[in-house]
Amino acid sequence: MSERSILDGEMKAEIFSGIRASGSGNSVVPVQLKPEDSFCFSCHRGVSCWNRCCHGADITLTPYDILRLSRHFGIRPREALLAYTVPAMWDKAELPVAKLKMGGDDGKGPCAFMTEEGCSIYENRPATCRYYPLGLASMKMKGDDHIGDFYFLVKEPHCRGHDEKKDLTVSAFREEQGVTDHDRVNRGWIDILMKMSSWKVMGGPWGQEPSPQTKRMFFMVSTDVDALRDFVFKTKFLDSYEVAPEAVEQLKTDDEALLQLGFDWMKTVLFNEKTLMLKERVLRESIARAREEMGAS
Ligand code: SF4
Ligand code: SF4
Repeated sequence: MSERSILDGEMKAEIFSGIRASGSGNSVVPVQLKPEDSFCFSCHRGVSCWNRCCHGADITLTPYDILRLSRHFGIRPREALLAYTVPAMWDKAELPVAKLKMGGDDGKGPCAFMTEEGCSIYENRPATCRYYPLGLASMKMKGDDHIGDFYFLVKEPHCRGHDEKKDLTVSAFREEQGVTDHDRVNRGWIDILMKMSSWKVMGGPWGQEPSPQTKRMFFMVSTDVDALRDFVFKTKFLDSYEVAPEAVEQLKTDDEALLQLGFDWMKTVLFNEKTLMLKERVLRESIARAREEMGAS
């Protein structure tokens, strides 16, 4: 995943994009697009660069990517994590993430899922692979908490798909690539990365870098729903936070619902957002504790 910050008058944008590395060192030219804008592109077995972008690719896996990958192989996310990913730091936000493991000692080799015919996990390929050569950008206005999305076209010199004579709009491309579910499930996670990257210049939210424990929790939420489920059901989590009884039932089996809870929880922990409320009793106890520590009567 590659990111850039652009300052445009009063507007600050942080761009999240999956750039499937060319290894060529050539620069990437992003062109901003709206859903109705069209671009010329087609990727098929006949292109001279076939499979080239599946070598040494820099692919940060989203939480939903890991779920889909594990479902593809009929394994649990933890097993998929061990078999197919490497841990990495998402530099712009200083948060730990999982990246897709590439072949070769230097990580410049082929992706484990690349075959002569194409991607062997095509129906469950990661969001970054689906989006390419588009990038998904999230933009935050200065002084405004609202986060909006836009797209941009990545033109890397090695990718000959841009020479093909197939015109399509961004909307049509997104539909063709089946990214809607990915965007829907990953939304909260992208918001967290986005917010963290905007705080980075201060060293973290309100100048405080998240603790190593918080970062570990973020990694767990991002990569391992089973560990998250254990955390929710086997600790005092449900005694501490307001979660509706019917939601508790759903969380026992619904991985995607659990991810949403995990994102809400991380937003509370990292940014003090009211996405998940502490129970009244816990709140009163923690206020009393804080007063005691400050020596108040
Ligand atoms: S997951 Fe598929 S599309 Fe993505 S890099 Fe690997 S082989 Fe290529
Ligand atoms: S056209 Fe672009 S996306 Fe398709 S195989 Fe070539 S480099 Fe990859």
